[in-house]
Amino acid sequence: MYAQQIIDAGRWIDQQGWCPATGGNFSIRLNSETALVTASGCHKGHLSEQDMLEVDLSGQPKADVSDRKPSAETLLHTRLYSLSSHIGAVLHTHSVASTVLSCLATHDWLELSGYEMQKSLAGNTTHDETIRLAVFDNTQDMSDLAGQVSERWMDEPLNWGFLVSGHGLYAWGKDMQEARRHLEGLEFLFACALEMRRMGAR
Ligand SMILES: [Zn+2]
Repeated sequence: MYAQQIIDAGRWIDQQGWCPATGGNFSIRLNSETALVTASGCHKGHLSEQDMLEVDLSGQPKADVSDRKPSAETLLHTRLYSLSSHIGAVLHTHSVASTVLSCLATHDWLELSGYEMQKSLAGNTTHDETIRLAVFDNTQDMSDLAGQVSERWMDEPLNWGFLVSGHGLYAWGKDMQEARRHLEGLEFLFACALEMRRMGAR
């Protein structure tokens, strides 16, 4: 059932064009100590159960039953599960809008305001607020990036997701359904923000 939720999410995300060329990775929490994550190098539109493995919350495979390697970015997923027991699924995507917009951010956050779609993000009931999404510099050092996420989280817990500059988006939710809604809502907001900038409006 958990694996199927990842397979279904992968098919949908692939249809949106948000994970081209085997990029991105997805996970779901199995319990307080274990998550199911996608393996490295799989095309996300054609996942099967063999393309996933169980890891503990430090990102290590639980049992050596597969020759699959966990995705390089597994540590980011498991760090999020460690930081909040309310996170039940994490979707990491590489869309054009998130990649470009994250490069244009001039602070370590991205502000979005005035869009009805902000209500797709848990806790938001109006367009009439400014929401902030954290932006981190890209690095291939996942333990460094996970450390930065933890540090920022200690200042203030992050909501819905964060961007990695020139790289993509991590979105999450209490379960896969909510993670998918947050991903879809954020991608819509990114597309609007990008279009507005292209028009010179904001
Ligand atoms: Zn990535």
